[in-house]
Order: sequence, then C-alpha cells, then structure tokens
Amino acid sequence: MAVRALPEHIVNRIAAGEVIERPASVVKELVENAIDAGARAVEVVTSAGGKSLIRVTDDGEGMCRDDLVAAVDRHCTSKLPDDDLAHITSLGFRGEALASIGSVARLSLESRHKSEEHGWSILVDGGRKGEPVPAARAAGTQVEVRELFFATPARLKFLRSDRAETSAVTDQLRRIALAHPDIRFTLAGGDRKTLDWAPRKSLLPRLGDILGEEFADNAVPVAAEKEGVRLSGFIALPTYNRANSLSQFVVVNGRSLRDRLLAGAIRAAYADVLARDRHAVAALFLELSPEDLDVNVHPAKAEVRFRDSGLVRGLIIRAVREALAEHGFRAASTGGV
Ligand code: ADP
Ligand code: MG
Repeated sequence: MAVRALPEHIVNRIAAGEVIERPASVVKELVENAIDAGARAVEVVTSAGGKSLIRVTDDGEGMCRDDLVAAVDRHCTSKLPDDDLAHITSLGFRGEALASIGSVARLSLESRHKSEEHGWSILVDGGRKGEPVPAARAAGTQVEVRELFFATPARLKFLRSDRAETSAVTDQLRRIALAHPDIRFTLAGGDRKTLDWAPRKSLLPRLGDILGEEFADNAVPVAAEKEGVRLSGFIALPTYNRANSLSQFVVVNGRSLRDRLLAGAIRAAYADVLARDRHAVAALFLELSPEDLDVNVHPAKAEVRFRDSGLVRGLIIRAVREALAEHGFRAASTGGV
C-alpha cells in the first residue's frame, strides 16, 4: 500500500491519545491554561466524572477573535514567542491540548480579551471547526468539553466509573491548587460537595485546605539549596502517614508533577523511620533555572528531566532527613543518597 500523509483530524486524534487520557487530563490542561492566562479565580464544573461535561471558567486575560480561532489548531501557542524551548516559564508550550480535546470531544470555547468590548465563541466538534461568532461575556475564558472521547470509542471504553473519574479530577485539581495558593479554585458537580479553596497568602494555609488541618499540626518545614536548586515545603512526621502516596505533592517551577525520581527520593528519605507499607505525606517545592530542567519529556508534562538528577535526589533526601532528625526521627543509616 502507498505511503500517505494522514488527514489532520486523524493526526490530532492520534496525538490526543497521548495528551488526553481521561477527564482529569482535560481538567489539567484547561486549568493550566487559565493559570497561564493570569487567572485569579478558576471554576471547574464536571458532570458524570467529566465524561459528559467539563467546564472551566477563568478571569484571565482572555483571547481576541483571531487568537481564539488559532488556539484550537494543532501546534498553535502564544507561549513560545522566541521559539525558545530552553527557557520555558509557562505551564503550556506545546500548543496541543485544545486541538487534541477538540478532535475527540465537543469543544466550545468562549472568550473575551480584557481590552475588547465583547467576546467570541467557537465550536470544534470531533475535529470539525466552526466559525467564530460574537458572544456577550465577562473578560476571561470559558471552555466546555462535552462527550469526551465520543469520536474515539476505543478510548471511551477504558474510562472508569463516574466516581473513579470524579476522584481523579479532584486529585488533579488538588495538585494544581497546592502549587498556586494565591489563586481561588472551585470544583463543583456530581454528588460531591462543592470544593472552594479561597486565595491564600502563603502555602501552609492552602496545605491545610487540601490536606486537612491535621497535616499542619504534624508538619515540619524543609528548606535547602545547592548549586542553584532551591527546595522548600512541608513534610509530615512519620507518625502521621497514609496507606497510599496520593498525599505526596511535588511542584517543580510551579508545575505539579508525579515524578518517579522525586517520589523515590521521598521514599528513600523516610526509609528508616516509616513502615514499608506506609506512605509519607509531603508537599515539596523545587525551584531551579529552566535551563537545568527539560519539561518536554512527556506529552502530558507529568514528568520532567533534571540536568543533574543526582543533585536533586540528594538535596531532597538530605533536607528531609535533617528536618526529621530535628524532631527526633533519626535514620539508622545514611545510605541511599
Ligand atoms: P498551550 O497551552 O501549550 O499553548 P493549548 O492548546 O492548551 O496550548 O492552548 C493554545 C493557546 O490558546 C494558548 O497558547 C493560549 O494562547 C490560548 N489559550 C488557551 N486557553 C486559554 C485561556 N484560558 N485564556 C487565555 N488564552 C488561552
Ligand atoms: Mg495548554
């Protein structure tokens, strides 16, 4: 058979498979876009665990008509103005999320740029893009995603129960909210109680919102710095632990990650003071020069690569052990660093 270039809507569906795995991935992409747009408040509504509806509303800078039309095309982004992949400071940069979502779902985008008098809206339905039409709305953006994966039934079949998808969405939003304490986040819909995290001036109160006040009572601060890598945050004493690792949060340059290297460092730091089947509760923040970090490793940007991963691992292990030792939890060995 002849080799041919695939039509664009098929290319987009293939790419969507990597970026958008489940409703929680849509929530991640849309909320990160809101944060990149400078939102002070982000509202998320889902129904049926996000399978039938995900709506994200923000009060960010919004988009003008032409940007709205371009935003849903693949590889279209406003976030790499200098084509510089080595200094990424925004959460997005791949220009893939909206195109991917629009190719596998019914996407509606409505936005008003802060400098304009009225807004615009556009629909993308299973990859078919409509014409922009004027829309009356407040400055900012609202994105609605309906019938996720209707265009890719194979993927649709792999979604779990409404309840399981709802909790994945909640977990995702918790991770992002923790990384941005100064932004208000709300999550409504389904049979869950509406979550409303008010803006906080610092990390600890937001940690209390998300992990419970008890965490704050059992938490000790960690701080360390080495060769331009800065570590901060809070960890719980080993006596306050969990049966799973859902309460471990790692934020690298404002990006909430589920990274194996970082999770491994936390495990190693607690190894001598925590039972093998228990998990530490921790919220760690790393700040380093964008040049020492490659965020372009994973289509969903859930993992990163460090230029010097040994340095990062060692920094976490030493700082966590030191903080624990100050509270009387001393490791038997110092191996593993
Ligand atoms: P990326 O975030 O990687 O640029 P996306 O497909 O997520 O790619 O978004 C494409 C573009 O659409 C963004 O670069 C941005 O300019 C614009 N955009 C998306 N969401 C918003 C939003 N909530 N507010 C303002 N602009 C947005
Ligand atoms: Mg994006």
